[in-house]
Amino acid sequence: MSVTPTDLTAWITRFDALVAEHEAELTALDSEIGDADHGSNMARGMRAVVAKLSAEPPATPAELGKTVGMTLVSTVGGASGPLYGTLFLRLGTSAGDRTELDAAELGAALRAGVEGVVARGKAEPGDKTMIDALLPAVDAWDAAVGEGGGVAEAATAALEAAEQGRDATIPLVARKGRASYLGERSAGHMDPGAASSTLLMAALRDALEA
Ligand code: ADP
Ligand code: MG
Ligand code: MG
Repeated sequence: MSVTPTDLTAWITRFDALVAEHEAELTALDSEIGDADHGSNMARGMRAVVAKLSAEPPATPAELGKTVGMTLVSTVGGASGPLYGTLFLRLGTSAGDRTELDAAELGAALRAGVEGVVARGKAEPGDKTMIDALLPAVDAWDAAVGEGGGVAEAATAALEAAEQGRDATIPLVARKGRASYLGERSAGHMDPGAASSTLLMAALRDALEA
């Protein structure tokens, strides 16, 4: 199965719904090791994204990435806005002028997006950030595709890896972002960005499993 702009729009719409559903939980995580705004930041950004996508339905994956990324950068004030914004801008650029993406192409686009987050935020694996969920997810995507899986199998594998990466942030000491100001006291709490990134992968699985 190839992934169309309509499928990608379903992914983003589902992410908005999951963020809205988990807004209080994301903010509670950020209240433990940050400034208690991650849920509201993401909910505000994704509401704006979904409004923009329905006003201007994208014709290509590249257009979708640009619309989502630019909207997040301009509506989310916190660290997460430019980071998620970069993810979608790079994902879009990676898609080039293709109108649909196969499993390998979507994997490459996701990896380009996550590499953009790394380049922008300079976080390394184990620094207790969103990339601790995102990098294992794209690795699992590629491994599933390497074994002959399609987008549904790849998305399921990516979600499982993101969940494990998210849970593995709990004992870590934060070395990037606001949580790093707490030093050792950041240990024992799940990273809020890793939690929202896992919702991003859950939304992709939900959109592609049919
Ligand atoms: P802010 O910290 O500005 O209030 P948010 O609360 O919306 O922004 O987002 C915080 C999340 O952003 C963190 O939980 C972490 O996952 C992510 N984050 C912060 N800094 C970085 C970074 N340099 N690289 C990757 N992710 C980061
Ligand atoms: Mg915050
Ligand atoms: Mg903030």
